[in-house]
Amino acid sequence: MTTPSETPHASPQTSPAGFDLTPPTAEQRRTLEARLSGEERRVLLSHGTEAPHCGTLLHNKTPGTYCCQLCGLPLFQAGTKFESGTGWPSFTAPFDTAHVKLLQDNSYGMVRVETLCARCGSHQGHVFPDGPPPTGVRFCINSVALRFEPEGAALARSVQDYIDSIG
Ligand SMILES: [Zn+2]
Repeated sequence: MTTPSETPHASPQTSPAGFDLTPPTAEQRRTLEARLSGEERRVLLSHGTEAPHCGTLLHNKTPGTYCCQLCGLPLFQAGTKFESGTGWPSFTAPFDTAHVKLLQDNSYGMVRVETLCARCGSHQGHVFPDGPPPTGVRFCINSVALRFEPEGAALARSVQDYIDSIG
């Protein structure tokens, strides 16, 4: 598939933006997890949080797309990134609402909403209702959970495309 689908209901595994949401197979997941660093593993697989103001993508202003570090699904676009002052990359909206899964998180005595990659289920960050216009929400995401693809780079449509692209 190379063009975005105009009919979101054509296949339940294809997002409105045209990406294959079929989760990684066990073998694909082993391949993908094997290339993660310890810090990436801690955040993505164990619901960790990187230290604030340390993430490599915090001040990135290059046009492009922020993809899931584990499976390559596009999660956020550079145009929705803003300086929140929190120390973590912040976005006002997802790339496609079908790509970011929200889950209530009651850990640490707080009621928060966790954001997960909708395809592989890896932890990305949290979403808060205090963002700027136009959405009023703030997606607060760990740099290590994201892989940045500059504008013009080909975005992998499926898990296998992603594995092939990263070698
Ligand atoms: Zn993913």
